Amino acid sequence: MKPCAYVRASTVEEATAAYAGHSGAQYLGGGTNLVDLMKLGVSTPDTLVDISRLPLDGVAECDDGALRIGATVRNSDLAAHPLVRARWPVVSQALLAGASGQLRNVATTGGNLLQRTRCPYFQDLTKPCNKRQPGSGCAALDGVHRDHAIFGHSRRCIATHPSDLAVALVAVDATVELHGGDGVRTVPVEEFYRLPGERPEQDTIIRPGELITAVTLPAHSAGLPSAYRKARDRASYAFALASAAAVVDVQGGRVHHAALAFGGVAHRPWRARHAENWLIGAPPTADAIARAVDAELARAEPLGDNAFKVDLARGLARDLLTRLTGARPPGAGGHGAG
Ligand SMILES: Cc1cc2nc3c(=O)[nH]c(=O)nc-3n(C[C@H](O)[C@H](O)[C@H](O)COP(=O)(O)OP(=O)(O)OC[C@H]3O[C@@H](n4cnc5c(N)ncnc54)[C@H](O)[C@@H]3O)c2cc1C
Ligand code: SF4
Repeated sequence: MKPCAYVRASTVEEATAAYAGHSGAQYLGGGTNLVDLMKLGVSTPDTLVDISRLPLDGVAECDDGALRIGATVRNSDLAAHPLVRARWPVVSQALLAGASGQLRNVATTGGNLLQRTRCPYFQDLTKPCNKRQPGSGCAALDGVHRDHAIFGHSRRCIATHPSDLAVALVAVDATVELHGGDGVRTVPVEEFYRLPGERPEQDTIIRPGELITAVTLPAHSAGLPSAYRKARDRASYAFALASAAAVVDVQGGRVHHAALAFGGVAHRPWRARHAENWLIGAPPTADAIARAVDAELARAEPLGDNAFKVDLARGLARDLLTRLTGARPPGAGGHGAG
């Protein structure tokens, strides 16, 4: 591991100034991803700016019913927070589906969102990887790509984003607050992440030196039925092959609100807008759910090794939406609950 300097910041201003004042600086949250990448030689910061002691470890209810989560709130604390569990259960479930108890005790909200891809070639310095070294090629394209993307990939990169939390945040329409040299800006989590296109080295739209200070769960998704499901190779301690997060509201026998996001299938959490458009206004029947989910998955572009993800995602989404809307499962007879 390359030696590097260490600075511990105690305020947001100190942290951003320390970053700006040191070339090759990187923020250090819980370190559960960054330190692993440093040991592998994938990340080689000259200076670590430790932000884990910043006063950003609070969760506060806003006047309008939204919930503001500080960037250094640990994943386990957030998953257990009573308001999160009661009003945005999908967020708590997604967190608990990730990593292990020990890792969640250390990992932070901001660090979770900015963890890097688990593409094995990204972590292997002997292989070409456009994300690690722009212009070097993509070893996964002609290599093993069972775990890779089925939506939104490019010839430059077919990696997926690994965070479970981010998928749930997209489904609840959460926003992320960023502090940088140009001031403070707030961005929907959905727009925070990028597709790889020609520049896979950039996972997000974050600017150099910008610090995530908070994530906000909005009032409009509070209290709506929501849930997360994840399919993986092991029952715990494994990243998603595919996952789905859904938030729905049924009123007067029609779907009034539907938000669906997939994880493990793209370079960013994949918001299933086509499925949502089919569902909103429809009666919540098994047929309507199947048509909506199929409309999204018809747009998937699986690679040689990962066509199975299409059916996996289909099954997860249909199951979640059936459960959350109260529709009768296919084969149960009738046309579903109104
Ligand atoms: C064995 C294992 C299994 C795992 N399984 C899962 C899983 O199933 N699902 C899942 O979602 N995750 C999983 N993880 C990943 C884990 O959740 C992440 O490592 C963790 O959430 C990262 O948080 P951190 O605070 O430790 O980030 P760090 O490692 O400290 O930082 C990660 C990145 O974010 C940057 N950063 C951190 N905080 C900020 C901030 N506030 N502003 C700007 N930049 C910042 C850092 O510079 C770094 O680039 C797993 C990890 C391991 C080791
Ligand atoms: S898929 Fe992306 S991260 Fe993986 S080797 Fe290709 S460029 Fe690198």
